[in-house]
Amino acid sequence: MNIDRRSLLTGMAGTALLGLPKPTLAATTTSIGDFQVDSVSDGNLVLPGAMFFEGHPIAEVDKILAPLNMSKTQVEPPCNITLVRHEGRVILFDAGSGDGFMPTAGTLVDSLDAIGIAPDDVTHVVFTHGHPDHLWGVLDDFDDPVFTEAEHMIGQVEWDYWTDPNTVNTIGDTRASFAVGAARRLDAVADRMTFFKDGAEVLPGIMAHATFGHTPGHMSFEVRSGSDALLIGGDAIGNHHIAFARPKWASGSDQDPDLAAITRARLLDMLSHDKTQLLGFHLPDGGIGRVEKMGDEYQFVSEEIQ
Ligand SMILES: [Zn+2]
Repeated sequence: MNIDRRSLLTGMAGTALLGLPKPTLAATTTSIGDFQVDSVSDGNLVLPGAMFFEGHPIAEVDKILAPLNMSKTQVEPPCNITLVRHEGRVILFDAGSGDGFMPTAGTLVDSLDAIGIAPDDVTHVVFTHGHPDHLWGVLDDFDDPVFTEAEHMIGQVEWDYWTDPNTVNTIGDTRASFAVGAARRLDAVADRMTFFKDGAEVLPGIMAHATFGHTPGHMSFEVRSGSDALLIGGDAIGNHHIAFARPKWASGSDQDPDLAAITRARLLDMLSHDKTQLLGFHLPDGGIGRVEKMGDEYQFVSEEIQ
């Protein structure tokens, strides 16, 4: 795996010229058989630490965060879009935030440009789930689809949830805007959307793997070539701190914290046992790495950036 220095430098130069506060345009790369897999930056989020740490023993939280040099009050998770190129297909897993969610996020189109990919080169956009940082980038400022030539694909359960007019009433006040925003965007791309279920081969060599809990229909995807495999995890393992050190702790970032914890523990066990690579949407250093088990805890070991 390597970092494309030319892309990084091009991205940095572009940022300097435009004077934008969007720092991360680096891409990291790995491959699984014939699949070329890149992590492409959509910038980062800025979230209150309480979303992850509230309600947990403070001494334990401190112990987990100290070696990671992280603040308890604010976290700034990166957003890693997975780009898979295989047999002429150019597949994005999630569409990023677009311009409408947070000023620090929404760099996907610039990051793709830095590696020579235009939006209309994308042949498929496959969604892990319908949260803003994964879905809202599907439309531009004029509410037109960004990836004009792409077939869009989403899990049936996730689609049913976000297009249900009652979801805005049941999701809770803090996420009501998520429900409104998702319904509007999914409606705008409905005519280019196809649907799949758990276990489906969504595209050749890429299997959908239900990882419900973060959202009701959250999906992960396994890219496999023989014994070599990578899991595109979305937000099923949503951070590199608490999620790995205390997988069973509830997280305020999950819509069903209890189910999400069960899913997370199952995935960590599987990934560490099978030595499968993971590409996590909010994990550091581009999000490509492996899961190592250490006693009752796990650790995210990112692939070394060279
Ligand atoms: Zn997310």
